[in-house]
Amino acid sequence: MPIKGMTDRQAQFPKLGTLRKGEPKPDGSNRPGKDLEGFRFDSDDAAATEAFLEAFGDEPRRVNVLLPFRTAAENFQAWREEWTASSLKHRCDGETMTLWLNGAAYSQAPKACTGGCKPVGRLMVIIPELRRLAYVTVLTTSIHDIMTLQENLDAAEMLRGDLRGIPFVLSRRPREISTPRANGQRARTEKWLLSIEPAPHWVGHQLQVMERAAPHWVGHQLQVMERAALPHVKALPDGQHVDTITGEVLDAPRFEDPEGAIEGEVVAVSPPAAKPFDRAKAIQRIRELGRQERDLGSEFAEQNQENLLVLEDLSDDELLDLGTRRKERVSALKAGRVVADAVST
Ligand SMILES: [Zn+2]
Repeated sequence: MPIKGMTDRQAQFPKLGTLRKGEPKPDGSNRPGKDLEGFRFDSDDAAATEAFLEAFGDEPRRVNVLLPFRTAAENFQAWREEWTASSLKHRCDGETMTLWLNGAAYSQAPKACTGGCKPVGRLMVIIPELRRLAYVTVLTTSIHDIMTLQENLDAAEMLRGDLRGIPFVLSRRPREISTPRANGQRARTEKWLLSIEPAPHWVGHQLQVMERAAPHWVGHQLQVMERAALPHVKALPDGQHVDTITGEVLDAPRFEDPEGAIEGEVVAVSPPAAKPFDRAKAIQRIRELGRQERDLGSEFAEQNQENLLVLEDLSDDELLDLGTRRKERVSALKAGRVVADAVST
């Protein structure tokens, strides 16, 4: 029997660390650390830290990531928050607080914002190179980052429907930003902002998979993608990140410090949707088509060399081909056409 809220949630996995944009806070200060041009992986897990350094080096500007949830809204959360040195005072949407410190405990009763809050965006990602089924939070307090990430994720969700299983590249790029100055004028400064896009090699891999299935359909997909202005298709190295994730053993959840508990609760995640070829079903279908062919009175059906094939020994592709041929012959017979190629196989 599950304990409600503890053991009845499915497939949970822990937080492994945070991808930050700045240096650590200076000792004894509450000021944010200096802004970097790359990512700083902040984790108390030594093995993960080492794996990150080995894969991406110090302060990389690009990191490969997967998203654990289906939708943009589940993977990316943006709030306004008020923090003291050690704890969250309130979280709101700019008008109404959804979490606020009421004495020693948090309340979730809706209440008007009391001010003093700043934007915070948290994107949950899985970094395949860490080879751990644990998520990493990408943290930003820039309103420009929040808007860009939201746009990028919405676009990918609109195109694919499901963000799981897509290898993304999270990157920092320099952009000119106009900021207000004390004298009322505006100044242009360069900021290294975040963006997230599907990895170009994945787009290539997807196309190869599609091409094997149905060449004419690929042409159509290409047009759709071109209209959606996806990155240009390039050569594909692997595209197998998903397997390294689903094959991993779950790490035991670790206890979080108070900040971590607010920042990233342990969450539920379902594995990326996989649609393996169902051989048993295909064989069953091919036999059924064979019966239909004979019932429809094809004199060739009985003599067809295909009948000698041991279906269980065929590859997935051969099964697909055979099924397609039989289906075409059955529809031709139903339409009253003569089937001439039945014995030529
Ligand atoms: Zn607020």
